[in-house]
Parts: sequence; structure tokens; C-alpha cells
Amino acid sequence: MITAFALLLASVLFIIGIKLLASPKTARPGNRVAGLGMMIALLAALPQLHDSHGAGVSLWKWALILAGIALGLVVGAAGAYKVKMTAMPQMVALFNGAGGGAAALVAAIEFAHVTSASSLTFVISMLCAAMIGAVSLSGSIIAFFKLEGHFDKPVTYPAQQLLNGALFVISLLLALAMAAGSHSMVLMVLFLLIALALGVLMVMPIGGADMPVVISLLNSFTGLAVAADGFAIENVAMIIAGTLVGSSGTILTLAMCKAMNRPVTNVLFSAFGQTGAAGAAATATGSVKSVPADEAALLLGMAGRVVIVPGYGLAVAQAQHQVRQLSDELAKKGVEVSFAIHPVAGRMPGHMNVLLAEADVPYDQLIEMETINPEMDRVDVCLVIGANDVVNPAAREDKSSPIYGMPIIEAEKAATVIVMKRSMGKGFAGIENALFLRDNCRMLFGDAKASLQELVTLVKTG
Ligand code: NAP
Repeated sequence: MITAFALLLASVLFIIGIKLLASPKTARPGNRVAGLGMMIALLAALPQLHDSHGAGVSLWKWALILAGIALGLVVGAAGAYKVKMTAMPQMVALFNGAGGGAAALVAAIEFAHVTSASSLTFVISMLCAAMIGAVSLSGSIIAFFKLEGHFDKPVTYPAQQLLNGALFVISLLLALAMAAGSHSMVLMVLFLLIALALGVLMVMPIGGADMPVVISLLNSFTGLAVAADGFAIENVAMIIAGTLVGSSGTILTLAMCKAMNRPVTNVLFSAFGQTGAAGAAATATGSVKSVPADEAALLLGMAGRVVIVPGYGLAVAQAQHQVRQLSDELAKKGVEVSFAIHPVAGRMPGHMNVLLAEADVPYDQLIEMETINPEMDRVDVCLVIGANDVVNPAAREDKSSPIYGMPIIEAEKAATVIVMKRSMGKGFAGIENALFLRDNCRMLFGDAKASLQELVTLVKTG
């Protein structure tokens, strides 16, 4: 009774936690509430432990369990404290892979207890958890390595889909054999190995920069695997937590694909980034006009309204504190400053929100793309910092562009656009940007952090 109540309480805390995570203002308490729920679920599971004969757990097994919990707590907390903001997707990949692996292990261990009296639902739930969990484990590990810069290009080879399809069919046949009553652990191990191979083969052909979408998808896989485990071992907290993770991961995956105007199938099967994308600005006319920092500072200081568009380069330069200082200095001069946030700016969902929150930029200064776009033609200066694809007008104007149809921040509508980046280098999509050649656009070349520092000093003393 107490256990059932504790699991219910944990589930309610998960739901409240995820609701609070929906806004940057309440995200921190949301994380704590969900963490408390996880702790309660963990403690509630301990009295239920028993060995395979239903007897209590021996002392040394208790020691092993507690050591495992302590190790998990220490590694998790140390990893989360130490990780750099730009390495967050890698950490999520590892944590997610560990979750998928755990779900697959639980399923495999439970499979050892299957008898002819076991219900079909029980067996099917375990098989689903084993398959999806193992795919998530190996897929997340490959995603981690890709994000770390290994296997830079998508790895493709002939008959790739055919091989994946064949492996999937073999695993289905194995699952059918096990569901039909063959309870051999050899089959289960083979089944797990094929699932692990499928995870690797599924992620290898996907471009490194698409990894955040893949991680979000694998995250939803892990959620489903945990929910399936929950059905098998009749743990309501696992069913609810797994379903929450599964559905939120799916929603996030779809939202990211929508913001990039690419279907999920395109992310999974197009090997985006393998070949140099078509030069969208091949037909664009105009010239690159650079602007010295003192002139840029003058333009900013004299503006009535400035909109800053942050992008991946701001995160690379780790210039979030300098951009906050610039915004503060401009505000002191009476300039109205806001930040235009594109949903897929950077390399992970909410990347810009997290980055700017780190520098304590007030939330009400962050404006969503849909809200800012209708106001862009009333903006005096649009300051684009390390952003490229998310302000590329080819997305609206050039039907041959690979990013055609992707919603963008309409920076070009501002009276003056100042773009801060190191060179004429391309962004994630690998295409030219016609914005940089527009008459109203000026390029301030250099590392974003150094340039911003210079601008802060110039605006302050100007
Ligand atoms: P982007 O198109 O990748 O462009 C980033 C720009 O930053 C580059 O052109 C680079 O130019 C500049 N840069 C790099 N380091 C810099 C530094 N130290 N200082 C100044 N500039 C620097 O970035 P974005 O506009 O943010 O667009 C994000 C892209 O990622 C989109 O195509 C999106 O679809 C994709 N994506 C996003 C997510 C997500 O979840 N957010 C997931 C998957 C894919 P230089 O080399 O010339 O400096």
C-alpha cells in the first residue's frame, strides 16, 4: 500500500516537473521536483527487491545495490556540474543511452523468469523493451561520438536500407519465436545483439549536426522501453515516466524537424551534410561590405530599437556574458534591445535560451521568431551574432535551396543589419547566405567574443 502510494506520488511529481520545465522561469524548480520524484520511485522500489526464488535479498546484494546507487549519484552529479554548456547534447546522449541500456537489461533479466504460464502481454512487453532499449543504447553511443567530432561525415554504403531491413526482419522472427514459447536465453542474446547492431547502423549514416534530433528521437525510444518494462514488471511509475519521456521526446523531435522544415525521414535517411549542398546564393548579387567596430558601435548607440539574433557562433565563442553587457550598455543609452530566438538556432533545442539564461539575460527580452518577424521592418539595427542559416533569406526566396521553406528570422527587413562572424564561412546547412550581400548588411568580422568586448568598450565610452 505504502509502495503504491509512493509510486503514485513519484508519478505526480514527474508530471508537475515536466509541466514546470516548459518555461525557463520555472525550469530549475521543475528539474528539482522531477528529481525528487525519481528519488521517491527509487526508494519505493527497494523494499520490493527479492531474488529469483522470491526470498529476501542477501546482505552482499544489498551492498552491491547501494554501491550502484551511490556510483550513479556521484557520476551523474559530477558529470552535470562539470559539463560545458556546448557539450550538453553529448551528456544527454550518454544519459539517454544508459537509460535505454538499463531498460534492455531489465527486460533480458525478466526474460530469464518467463515460464509457459507467463502471459503473452508480459513476454511482448519485455521483447519491446529489450529491442527498443538496446537500439537506444548503441544509437546514443554513436550519437555521442559523432557529437565529439568523430565520424565527421555520414557513413553510407550500398544496400544500407536493405541490410537494416533484413536485420529488422530477423529480429522480428526471433521475437516471434520467443513469444511463441521458445524461452532460450541464446535467442534473447542474439536478439539483443541484432538490436545493438541496428542502433549503430541507424545512426551511422546520419550527419553529425543532425544528432540533436536523433538524440531526441532515441530519448523517446528509451521512454517507450521503460514504459514497456513498467508493463512487464507492473510498475506504475515506470509506465508513467516512460510514457512522459516517450511522448515529450516525440513532440520535441517533430518540433525540431518542423522548425528546420525537414520531415523526420529526411533527417534519418538523407545523410544531410554528406555532400556540399547546392550554392543557394549562386544567383545572388551584391557585394560584401565590412564595417569597423567603431562604426558598428555608433550605429548601435544611435538606434532606437536593436534586435540581436544569436546563433551557434555565439555558443562557440562563449560570448553570452559579453552580449549581455552590450545589451545593458545600450539600454543605458535608451536603446530598446531584444533578442530574437529561432527554435533551432545553435545545435540543441533551447540552446540560445540556455546560453542567454547563463548570462542572466531577462526572459522578457527573449522574443520568439513568430512574434518578432512582423516587427522586423520597424527595427533600426539587427545584430546577427554567429547565426547564419536561421537568417538566410534563401529559405523564403530560393526554391532550389536545401533550406527552402524553413522559417527564418527576417533580419533583412531591419533598416541596417550587422553580422558578426569570423569569415564568410557557411553554417550547418553548408550553403551561401545572400543576406551578407544585401545593401543594408554590414559584416563585422572576428571572433564573436573579441568583437563584442570591443563593442562594449566603444559603446560605453562613445
Ligand atoms: P549556423 O548556420 O550553423 O552558423 C553558425 C555560424 O557561426 C557560422 O556560419 C560561423 O561562421 C559562425 N561562427 C562560428 N564560430 C564563431 C565564432 N567563434 N565567432 C563568431 N562566429 C562564429 O548556425 P545557426 O544560424 O544558429 O543555425 C543552426 C543550424 O543548425 C540550422 O541549420 C539548424 O537547422 C541546425 N540544427 C539545429 C539544431 C538545434 O536543435 N538547434 C539541431 C540540428 C540542426 P564563421 O565560420 O565565418 O565564423
